[in-house]
Amino acid sequence: LIEARDVTLSFGETPALRGASFRAEAGEIVAVMGPSGSGKSTLLHCLAGILVPDSGEVTFTGDRIDQMSETRRSALRRDRFGFVFQFGQLVPELTAQENVALPLLLGGVRRAAAMERARVWFERLGLSGMEGRRSGELSGGQAQRVALGRALVAEPEVLFADEPTGALDSLTGEQVMELLVGSAREQGTTVVLVTHEPRVAAYADREVIVRDGRVAMTEGVAS
Ligand code: ATP
Ligand code: MG
Repeated sequence: LIEARDVTLSFGETPALRGASFRAEAGEIVAVMGPSGSGKSTLLHCLAGILVPDSGEVTFTGDRIDQMSETRRSALRRDRFGFVFQFGQLVPELTAQENVALPLLLGGVRRAAAMERARVWFERLGLSGMEGRRSGELSGGQAQRVALGRALVAEPEVLFADEPTGALDSLTGEQVMELLVGSAREQGTTVVLVTHEPRVAAYADREVIVRDGRVAMTEGVAS
């Protein structure tokens, strides 16, 4: 479904990716692991069309993301991808419910319908009653669940999650992972998940290791 072939990308003089190849099939949940600074986030950003590689190819359903105009890439991100980032991802001026509804509103869904679809996620995520809060009034785990709702509300084909449990204690992290994996399986969503934690990676169908800007090793893990 989504694939990177021989991707390189440098930030100035710093090479972040040096020939990374990766693929995920439809409905697969893949964990991306590896040392700090190895290029995991950069790989995720290239796959998601946030960054364009210096060389190599990135394809989604056979289309070259790396050759698309910025306009087409942002439409792709909005309409077919979802993101969960580690920090500071909620819009502080909006309520939690408006944050979840945001991708729908940006995609042209009417406000009433978008807010109703967002509300359903508060039940699903165990956050009923929190709809009106702003991000500053939520705990880390609650904010992370709101961010997950926002990433999934538009039923993306691919969910990218960069250390979605990084800031959470292990119990809350497990709850977030159960929700993430449960919703993804239900919707048939492909998930690319960056994590440092073997316990989080154990939720995936498969695990890849990034080292020095390359995908070093692929191994199946029992799911
Ligand atoms: P971590 O586990 O710490 O999140 P990572 O594997 O996600 O690390 P990346 O963020 O992909 O690593 O970074 C890969 C390399 O690129 C590192 O050497 C990093 O310092 C560098 N880098 C990443 N983003 C930038 C940037 N915006 N500007 C300059 N260098 C960057
Ligand atoms: Mg990173």
